[in-house]
Amino acid sequence: MKESFGGEEAPFNYSTTAGRIFKIIRDLGPLTAADIGRRTGLAKSTISAYVDRLLSVGLLREEIPEGGKRRRLKVAESAGYVVGVALGQTHITVALCDLEAEIIDSIGGPVDLARESPEKVLEKVVSYARELELKAGVGNEALFGLGIGLPSPVDYGLGVAVNPPVMPGWDRFPVASYLSKEFTCPVFVDNDVNIMALAERDKGAAGGGAGREGAGLQDRPGRRSSFLVVKAGTGIGAGIVIDGEIYRGCKGAAGDIGHIGIDGDETLCRCGNSGCLEAVAGSRALAARAEAASREGRSAFLAEALEAGEAITPALIARGAAAGDDECVRQIIASGKVLGDVLAKLVNFFNPSMIVVNGGLTALGERFIASIRESVYRRSTPLATADLIIRKSALLDKAGTIGAAILVLDEVFSHRNVGRLMRDPED
Ligand SMILES: [Zn+2]
Repeated sequence: MKESFGGEEAPFNYSTTAGRIFKIIRDLGPLTAADIGRRTGLAKSTISAYVDRLLSVGLLREEIPEGGKRRRLKVAESAGYVVGVALGQTHITVALCDLEAEIIDSIGGPVDLARESPEKVLEKVVSYARELELKAGVGNEALFGLGIGLPSPVDYGLGVAVNPPVMPGWDRFPVASYLSKEFTCPVFVDNDVNIMALAERDKGAAGGGAGREGAGLQDRPGRRSSFLVVKAGTGIGAGIVIDGEIYRGCKGAAGDIGHIGIDGDETLCRCGNSGCLEAVAGSRALAARAEAASREGRSAFLAEALEAGEAITPALIARGAAAGDDECVRQIIASGKVLGDVLAKLVNFFNPSMIVVNGGLTALGERFIASIRESVYRRSTPLATADLIIRKSALLDKAGTIGAAILVLDEVFSHRNVGRLMRDPED
């Protein structure tokens, strides 16, 4: 099937009508033919012809609800597989997913992007994916595509990292073509936060919380079409979704908010500037401040933890706050405030309906989110925050692999490709 991706247009109008029907079912299914009719305005006979064809090529399946009501149509989620890869500075996770981006199985391990060559890291991707395929009894021919998120700016069209600040050897390394040679399937590369945003759009907070199970948009009033996803960890970045689509900017650098300057702060950043958001509010900065606080005798909890050989992590600071340590509480609130002040500027500029926070700093807990919220509300215009929701991601570390799978599915199930997948070999 996958050989038919790309290239010239399909005959008939499969590429538009079939693609349109398939997309509605992907987004909102399971749906009855009448549901599809209401949303497309297409005649019953037309819908029935296209649906029959989509069923016969195996992209859709029928579901007969209990009580013998009318058949409902949904994506044939087991008709193929996609691989989603989340690559972090120190960890890699590879997941085998079905055609609805549900994780079937996943595997992961340590990686050091600052030291290891792209070839070495991508070899790990290949071997993890092979292991998952073997375990699930899935052959390469059933793979519809592979998606990978990189913690760096990405030129989406070329599938390469561009000027990654702390990944020597990765600048313009041909990630997509390297992996597509190994897997002989389409490979898509994007920035990790953009990919997290796709996961939130379809499966997370911005999707109205109902995943794809709802019967229609009107049944999911919580669904958000314009929102931000912020990844706050060692680095800080944002994914921007406008009307349901990722906004990448003209060079793929949109949302690179980690190096926005904080007025009056001179902390040196790894990019060479000083006072950058991630140098002030990232998890390294937080750990350094917490360590200083314990050295200076301001936190009995942290001093004791360091004494016991524990590393200072966001989770440890959250534990300290829960145990009533004032300094841990102060650190959490201060981190949220710095991030919130920057997000307030974005809110005034972009007017999102939701901000979803993900990344290592979410381990600081609800107090961190509350502090972000307070800063944003205080510094944004009332109209911009009227219906604004700020919350922690419910997907957390699964967002990277689920989003990478969705990236692939959005591409291979684009209107044109669905049309091509429906062609008879003799056409
Ligand atoms: Zn910087």
